[in-house]
Amino acid sequence: MNNVLKNYFEVRNEQNLLYQANKLAGSVKNNNYLTDPTLSAKFLNDLDEKSTEISARILVLNSDAEIIADTNRTETDKTIIIPEVIDALKGTAAANLRGSTGKIYASAAIDGENGEILGAILLVSGFDEVYDLLASLNKDWLFLTIIISVVIAIIVYITSGHILKPLTRLVDSIRKITDGNLQERVAGKGKNEISVLGDAINIMTEKLEYEDTSRSEFVSNVSHELKTPLSSIKVLSESILLQDTAPEEMYKEFLQDINSEIDRMTNIINDLLSLVKLDNREAGLNLGETNLRMMLIGIMKTLYPLVKVKDIELILEADKDVIIDADETKLSLAISNLIDNAIKYTPSEGVVKVTLENDHQNAFISVADTGIGISEEEQPKIFNRFYRTDKTRDRETGGTGLGLSITHSTVLLHNGNIKVISKEGSGATFIVRLPIKQNREEK
Ligand code: ADP
Repeated sequence: MNNVLKNYFEVRNEQNLLYQANKLAGSVKNNNYLTDPTLSAKFLNDLDEKSTEISARILVLNSDAEIIADTNRTETDKTIIIPEVIDALKGTAAANLRGSTGKIYASAAIDGENGEILGAILLVSGFDEVYDLLASLNKDWLFLTIIISVVIAIIVYITSGHILKPLTRLVDSIRKITDGNLQERVAGKGKNEISVLGDAINIMTEKLEYEDTSRSEFVSNVSHELKTPLSSIKVLSESILLQDTAPEEMYKEFLQDINSEIDRMTNIINDLLSLVKLDNREAGLNLGETNLRMMLIGIMKTLYPLVKVKDIELILEADKDVIIDADETKLSLAISNLIDNAIKYTPSEGVVKVTLENDHQNAFISVADTGIGISEEEQPKIFNRFYRTDKTRDRETGGTGLGLSITHSTVLLHNGNIKVISKEGSGATFIVRLPIKQNREEK
């Protein structure tokens, strides 16, 4: 800023002085001051007046650069050789600020009648005022800079506190969560970026907590489910062992019971393995063209013996082939679970009807029965692992409580959905929607 000001004043003063030097040179020429010696007293007087008017020392030089008039009266008769004088005597006016002296020098040539150069005017003007001004401005700048720095420091201190405090709180909470404290939640209000981040972390922690509890629930359910048949086996085998002379039929009967408990455990473990496979999304689906009508016919064939035993009417309504992209083995198990349930939870002489329909984008398989139905409160829970409604909790149906979880996971993996429509006591209908085309890249 100071440099800009200094340059501005320098150029302005130089131009002004140059203008004055030229004017003076003209007037010296017009008044014949140099050629007519009788005018010299008036000449000096005029110079003095002019010098006061423009606040500059005036020197008049002849063509040999000798001083013939000096308003300071100190250098008369001396020769003065500086670039400005040399330039002027060559016919070029010049003006410069000389850093060493801190003064501005401006010169102009004095021409004679025929254009010859008779001498030169040299004006010397101080630049001190400007230097003083700049020095006092410097002090002001310094003062201003200190004030601005202090203000900025205060603002930074206050705002950084505002930003850092919530960040520190966030980091503290994240540390606690990382240490396994999943009940921890990030506190924060407002709509700024940090509270949005806090909310996102809270949602993530809720999910982690949910996963954590459902995992331990799952493990406890598995243990419980496996413990029940194991205890039966233990009781049965001990009662045989404790009898010294038991009849052969009793052995057979107990061994049959043990055998069916082992079957039950095998079923649970097989279902668990299927679920684990479905959960392991890395394994993905083994997609291929699947003819749903043929698949349903296959399932019906395997379930036919069950239907016969219970005297249930099993109907398939599928008037045309519907071909979709699917993992046939997994899908077949999923739909088979639905039909199997429908048969299990329908009393004798009931009807189970399986229907296959489609539109442009989706295939729909519905399994409707005339069985015991599912109450509205229980409908959202039946897809949970090991969930059984109270009525069916006695294990007489032989279910593991995992069948619908397997079906649900499989349908979701196929980007479809499943819903249940039912009224307690008057049958249930499960409807599965499956997209006909799978986006294979997505897998
Ligand atoms: P399960 O092996 O016990 O059948 P599922 O996961 O297949 O386990 O089903 C969970 C529970 O949902 C069943 O125990 C039963 O209470 C209920 N359920 C399933 N399908 C039907 C149905 N068609 N009618 C009535 N209840 C059903």
